[in-house]
Amino acid sequence: MQKRKAILVILDGLGDRASEELDYKTPLQYARTPNLDRIAKQSIVGLMDSIAPGIRAGSDTSHLNILGYDPYEVYTGRGPFEAAGLDMDLEPGDIAFRCNFATVDDNLVVVDRRAGRIKEGTDKLLEEINGMKIEDVTVFVKPGVEHRAALVLRGPGLSPAVSDVDPHDVGVRIHEARPLKPEAEKTARILNEFVRRAHAILKEHPVNKEREKRGEKPANILLPRGAGVVPHIEKFEKKHDMRAACIVGTPLIRGICKLAGVTSIDVPGATGGYDTDMMAKMRAVLENLEKYDFILVNIKAPDLAGHDMQPRKKVEVIERIDEAVGYLFDNLPEDAVLVVTADHSTPCSVGDHSGDPVPIMIHARDARREGEEFNEISVLRGSLRIRGSDLMNIIKNITNRAEKFGA
Ligand code: ZN
Ligand code: ZN
Repeated sequence: MQKRKAILVILDGLGDRASEELDYKTPLQYARTPNLDRIAKQSIVGLMDSIAPGIRAGSDTSHLNILGYDPYEVYTGRGPFEAAGLDMDLEPGDIAFRCNFATVDDNLVVVDRRAGRIKEGTDKLLEEINGMKIEDVTVFVKPGVEHRAALVLRGPGLSPAVSDVDPHDVGVRIHEARPLKPEAEKTARILNEFVRRAHAILKEHPVNKEREKRGEKPANILLPRGAGVVPHIEKFEKKHDMRAACIVGTPLIRGICKLAGVTSIDVPGATGGYDTDMMAKMRAVLENLEKYDFILVNIKAPDLAGHDMQPRKKVEVIERIDEAVGYLFDNLPEDAVLVVTADHSTPCSVGDHSGDPVPIMIHARDARREGEEFNEISVLRGSLRIRGSDLMNIIKNITNRAEKFGA
């Protein structure tokens, strides 16, 4: 049997519900998608629950499950994946947090949770703070986009069971980190000490003095939230015996891939926003297919339209995706496997992720031809009714890589 290569295209938040504005069709049903429909006709089709029926998955937990990692086992919080997405070097057992640069007054009351959406100088602000020692714990911080940063605590006896320092609101005092379990007492103590010391450094920092002179809000505090322990994750290549790469714009999913040892391919113009260059992503898949057996592509835009509760915008995004996926399909080697699905539904009527299952289609040259059109309703004629955790097995089967169970 000739082993095949697989491309997994995840259209983030693609699934939806009946939209009143679209004659009670879903955006995917309503959109003109000649390419996706053409591929569906040559594919196995059906529905997937990215985690389990009715579970409202995050993008992180669903991607983990789809890639074959049990999120209930490896996911304790968002922090580690965000930190990995910023290319921080992490070790299993590290405790990682997401952080905001924020502005507080003299009484530690939050004036602006994003420090006036600070755009420059955050790397300088962190210079003195990164590498700080508190007791026997070393602190690492790295800036992200705008006001975002990641914080990592490394040392013995740490726990992710601490509450957020970020009060998630303005006009209130920052919170003390509290241990949510007795074994997290040390972590809470260190975290509070870190926030105090960082504040002392930041409020006197020349970058902030300059900001204040210009009438801008100083980034005078770091507010950690979303603690998680860096999990031990078996490398994707070892687990699935496929050399893997990913093309994803969002740091969170990049972080998941990084922890799984999946190479991230940077594509100029792939922003993770509405304006993302989808064609550039597809070209990058084709250029890298020689080197890898498995390439994950994530397109974030449908999720954004769902959060924005804009069904017509979602239709527009889907029609652009149709063109890009059509281009990919037409240029794939004949023997490649193409999977198109979503990580969860983000219905425009909800404005957030829901537990509604998502459509999936799996194309291979010799795949059973089940589909008619690619949407939530039409795929019901197909054979698939799966969970995200089934997908890698199904991919390994259709790429002729599955081990036989028994004689
Ligand atoms: Zn998502
Ligand atoms: Zn989302």
